[in-house]
Amino acid sequence: MDDVTLWWLVSAGVGLVVGVVIGTAKRRAMAGAVWGVLLGPVGWLIVAIGPDAAQQRAKRCPHCLGLLPVLQSECAHCNRRVVWVRGEPRKPSGSAQSISQ
Ligand SMILES: [Zn+2]
Repeated sequence: MDDVTLWWLVSAGVGLVVGVVIGTAKRRAMAGAVWGVLLGPVGWLIVAIGPDAAQQRAKRCPHCLGLLPVLQSECAHCNRRVVWVRGEPRKPSGSAQSISQ
């Protein structure tokens, strides 16, 4: 194995490990791995300053349009109840408090 190949493998390995560590902190380990291998320190920065996975997946409250973390059953802004249907927040239908499902 020549020096260039060895240098490339060590760089990709370090980029992968550091990228996964940073990505895990942002709950985006796969993005951290890919950016870390491809771009090294620049990729780490992209993941570090990029949005958290939880922020990316946040939805709008159907009552007040405030940001609502996925599967949170009560809005932190208006304190109203929210039900989740196929990954989307909805107003509870009717007044029946169905606990099933
Ligand atoms: Zn709300």
